[in-house]
Amino acid sequence: MQRQTVCRACARRAPLSVERWRCECGGLLDLEAGPRFDPGRVEAETWSLWRYRHVLPVGPERWRGVTLGEGCTPLVAPEPGRPDLLAKLDFLLPTLSFKDRGAAVLVTAAAELGAVGLIADSSGNAGTAIAAYAARAGIPCTVYVPATTPPSKLGQARRHGASVIAVPGSREDAAAAARQATGAPGVLYASHVWNPLFFEGTKTLAHELAEQRGWRLPERVVLPVGNGTLVLGAHLGFAELAAAGIGGRPPVIVAVQAEACAPIAAAFRSGAERVAPTENRGTVAEGIAIAAPARGDQVLEVVRASGGALVTVTDSQTRDARRRLAARGIDVEPTAAAAWAAACALPAGDGVTITVLSGAGLKSG
Ligand SMILES: [Zn+2]
Repeated sequence: MQRQTVCRACARRAPLSVERWRCECGGLLDLEAGPRFDPGRVEAETWSLWRYRHVLPVGPERWRGVTLGEGCTPLVAPEPGRPDLLAKLDFLLPTLSFKDRGAAVLVTAAAELGAVGLIADSSGNAGTAIAAYAARAGIPCTVYVPATTPPSKLGQARRHGASVIAVPGSREDAAAAARQATGAPGVLYASHVWNPLFFEGTKTLAHELAEQRGWRLPERVVLPVGNGTLVLGAHLGFAELAAAGIGGRPPVIVAVQAEACAPIAAAFRSGAERVAPTENRGTVAEGIAIAAPARGDQVLEVVRASGGALVTVTDSQTRDARRRLAARGIDVEPTAAAAWAAACALPAGDGVTITVLSGAGLKSG
């Protein structure tokens, strides 16, 4: 693993290491650009996201012991008469959410770096994904979650052998508790927000969307956004494809927040460059209810650069979209239904729109 981390605040470069999850200045870390994407190097016989291994920051063979076959999810058109409105069924990944993409790559890299323990914090799905891949890699794992996390999500992480610690208060309180627990030798903070390795996994969504459609990207993608794991990962993948001249123009990104907790959408609407923390007034889409997203400014920048927008949906629109999808055979959690509600409200005729359905209905009980 040769790639360096780059601080978003002070531009300091340093090698990836187990204990270092932020810059000495406190800034967020990105990973420097990797090798050029080459469709000729896609491993056709590998039916998982590891087919794109030539652009992933891990060595040649370690992934084989960690993978659960994640990736290669279906693309379907659920609404009658709307072949332009496609859904990417990423809730069909091994732990039933798209977070498996990031967890698979991060945990593989952690094993390669020699981590002896993992710490994560999560509103549910990321913690479960990290717990599953940590179990697979044989690395002990502790997950901090808000006490309000649905019991179905907690049970899933516990069954994978993780110590699950329910923290009273908000999602941010759970993150703060996790950060306090970091610093022990050999323990890696497997944060889907802070750790740039996570985005190296979620970026494969972009490669897959292009390959599934004959190396042609859609005109528009609709993604739920809380902390921005999906938006920033997808952007990274689209940028890699663009740098290699593949897929045509990168898609416009429409990012979706719940009206009751929409700090990034508020900044977008007011034309601000920085995201101000807000209050979580409570929403059924608990997976995107992030009142103070650490990478909020970065999400804002990426969505604007794509020519896209941040939109909000109400809980009633989300419930309605969930019912409509379920009536077509697709049962997703409210966070995913929120994105579908937003996609259905967009004007038709702007080409192909792909919405990522990020988590399964069983997740929310
Ligand atoms: Zn720095």
